[in-house]
Amino acid sequence: MELKGIGVSPGVAMGQALVVEREAVAVFRLLLAPEAVEVEVQRLTRAVEASQKQLLAIKERLAREVGGSHAYIFDAHLLMLEDPLLLDRAVTVIREDHVNAEWALRTVADQLHALFDEFTDAYLRERSTDLDDVLGRVQINLGGAADAPSLSRLPGSFVLVTEDLTPSEAAELDWERILAVAMDAGSPTHHTAILARSFGIPAVAGLQDAVRRVPPGSLVVVDGTGGRLVVEPTAPTLEGFRAVQQRHKLEEERLQATSALPAVTRDGVRVSLQANVEFLDEADTALLYGAEGIGLFRSEYLLGRSREWPAEKRQLDVYCRLAELVRPHAVTVRTWDVGPEDLAPGGPTSPNPALGERSLRLLRRAPEAFRGQLRALLQAAAHGALRIMFPFVSGPADFEEARQLLEEARQELSRDGLPFGDRVPVGVTIEVPSAAMTADLLASRVDFFSVGTNDLIQYLLAVDRTDPRVSAHYQPLHPAVLRAVRGVVEAAERVAIPVSVCGEMAADPTTALVLVGLGVKELSMSPAAIPRVKAALRGASFARLKEVAEGCLALPSAREIEARLRAELSAVLAAGPVLQGE
Ligand code: PEP
Ligand code: MG
Repeated sequence: MELKGIGVSPGVAMGQALVVEREAVAVFRLLLAPEAVEVEVQRLTRAVEASQKQLLAIKERLAREVGGSHAYIFDAHLLMLEDPLLLDRAVTVIREDHVNAEWALRTVADQLHALFDEFTDAYLRERSTDLDDVLGRVQINLGGAADAPSLSRLPGSFVLVTEDLTPSEAAELDWERILAVAMDAGSPTHHTAILARSFGIPAVAGLQDAVRRVPPGSLVVVDGTGGRLVVEPTAPTLEGFRAVQQRHKLEEERLQATSALPAVTRDGVRVSLQANVEFLDEADTALLYGAEGIGLFRSEYLLGRSREWPAEKRQLDVYCRLAELVRPHAVTVRTWDVGPEDLAPGGPTSPNPALGERSLRLLRRAPEAFRGQLRALLQAAAHGALRIMFPFVSGPADFEEARQLLEEARQELSRDGLPFGDRVPVGVTIEVPSAAMTADLLASRVDFFSVGTNDLIQYLLAVDRTDPRVSAHYQPLHPAVLRAVRGVVEAAERVAIPVSVCGEMAADPTTALVLVGLGVKELSMSPAAIPRVKAALRGASFARLKEVAEGCLALPSAREIEARLRAELSAVLAAGPVLQGE
């Protein structure tokens, strides 16, 4: 079977499918060795006992606080947990199918739901929800055990097959054991796709129903270049993929050999290539690929699985270590770019997260979280080259508000007698169209711009970047995008502030060359993309890129711009890596 998707991280990898389904917690199926079966039964029993204890405690507290009549619902939950229909059946599934407890519970839940659905009595049918509630609790208790396999402690290497991954799940994931990613949702600018590229792991997105169709544990091949997921390939197909994988590996090694070469055009124009990083561990990889600093640290990944604001001290430690690692280059830390859905569950959510109460807007309601981050950043700036970047700024008023908070954090540190950096460059991400349109007003207020093309394209063209159904409309080369970038560069040039691009447009050699032609001299991207962009730049002449970009600005559609670029830059792009010195 072959499923078609969008290739979002190049390369080929094969392995056993780890199918993740989202419930109260992510549920996956593992095949156990015979000797692990009884241990698993014990683990399930302990989780059920822990759930019973919690339910009793809740029931007693409720009875105390609001009276016994409200506590009866927990009697029903407790009865369910004692019902042999549930626990005994789950134990049988573990023993017969040799699967993990999570999967066994899930199997029993499916059977019981089918049973509940047959009830004609509405009251009884509604008990289906109680069942989910109870089982969700047991699932969580299973995950909490120290010996539990979890997404952060995988018992082997797998190809992840998932609907979607939230940043908190991505932060938890044991990436070293992920061979490739296959996602039902997503597009090239989806955060999980970006992460996969950062780790150099092949990925396919937009598969739509892979979670339903791929049997857990089956052998799958992810072709991240061709945008395919092949399930249970035949021996000759597998052989073919192995050969492609080997070629890709050699090409990667060849490209990595360019890491020490400067990113300079044939006519001597220097471009700074930096890395986008989500985790501290990635900083080493970034240097390996030749990054000259970190152009974007997506700090919100520090929220991790708990989805809670990290303490000031922990942040200070991470920011200092990042700065230390990339010294003498700088690290640009983006302040919290989160929406309510990224925070602890149970809080308010937006009907449309991309347009909702996110980033600076959300932080008006969580000023302490923002202040903690600003204090940590200012203190870290005393130890290394650090820049602060505010995302999702819609214009000068937003920036002034954020700057005011930064000033307050500075005064606080001063009062507390704590050392901090006093000349920290402060900039904004240009990713909301209104910020691009007021770039001249912003330019005189900030120290740098970084164009976030991932969101800028989404908002300019009204295309949801996470929805595979509209991915054909997500056009980085749309005339509006090139014109917006040009306008931002001109505004920056007038007051001589640096402007970089940190969206994925910087990571594709073709679009990166247009950006340089438009006057962008700093590009920040997934580390693994650096060698290819560098190779393209070293084969190009800046004067020519400028002419080509000018020509593109006059064209009416992405299709025509792309055709022009192919015609004009084909020699540079096809030549592949330019490895020789100047
Ligand atoms: C962007 O919007 O281009 C960007 C770099 O940030 P993110 O992808 O995290 O939204
Ligand atoms: Mg963005």
